[in-house]
Amino acid sequence: MNVDDLVVIDFHIHAEEPCCSGRDDGYSEFQAGMAAYFKNPAGADGMLPSVQQSAAYFRERKIGAVIFPVDAERETGFRRYSNEEVATICAENDDILIPFASIDPAKGKLGAREARRLVREFGVRGFKFHPTMQGFYPNDRMAYPLYEAIAEEGAAMLFHTGQTGVGSGMKGGMGMRLKYSNPVHIGDVAIDFPDTPIVMAHPSFPWTEEGLMVAQHKPNVYIDMSGWSPKYFPEIFVRYANTLLKKKMLFGSDWPAITPDRWLADFERADFRDEVRPLILKENARKLLGL
Ligand SMILES: [Zn+2]
Repeated sequence: MNVDDLVVIDFHIHAEEPCCSGRDDGYSEFQAGMAAYFKNPAGADGMLPSVQQSAAYFRERKIGAVIFPVDAERETGFRRYSNEEVATICAENDDILIPFASIDPAKGKLGAREARRLVREFGVRGFKFHPTMQGFYPNDRMAYPLYEAIAEEGAAMLFHTGQTGVGSGMKGGMGMRLKYSNPVHIGDVAIDFPDTPIVMAHPSFPWTEEGLMVAQHKPNVYIDMSGWSPKYFPEIFVRYANTLLKKKMLFGSDWPAITPDRWLADFERADFRDEVRPLILKENARKLLGL
């Protein structure tokens, strides 16, 4: 990957579709709920982009992108998209895609072994967690065998935080418990793994201030600004991005729910300082990933 050729780095894009098989029953309804939440027409008709299509889309725009599936088999019943397959397609598109993987921490030692293999054999650079979709608090000891493997292999961790489109408006919220996604619990993980880069995804609504607090206090904690248009960022979030956290904030879209085109256009009009924009759009990500 030649980072100088990239215009920006998007730290948060999704590999959504299950591999080599049709969708599980209920999966289309789940995606339709997501599409309604994000007002994203692409998701409503079951035509989400494949990883290859995403690579082509981002290449056209010279945008590097961190991409991951989400392993929430246990909590949702939907088969996961194979980490190996995502990483293999990333390797074929390594001018654009940066592979992250996802393992449900409830897989314990089996998951820890998978993580080591993914880093060593597939060049995976980090792991995505979704506490609400995976049904756990980030500081639950159950997750520690996996965290230890990730930390020892030198990979990063990325946690969903705050409100989610997953299960939004569905009966019983599809069983998704929002409480797990309070970012304050990630502070404990940052204490136990102080040398591991930890990214908190989204503005953590309605716990935005808790998220800012953790990122300010722990040197290894970052925030990716995905999942929300910059038009709707809380004022305090923008203020921290412009000042105390200017070296901690990362551009992320949440593709395919939000396109980088829309995010970047709204960012252009939002109240960010000129000297901070290049940090958010590329330099902070470059430093975090050592690119
Ligand atoms: Zn996301």
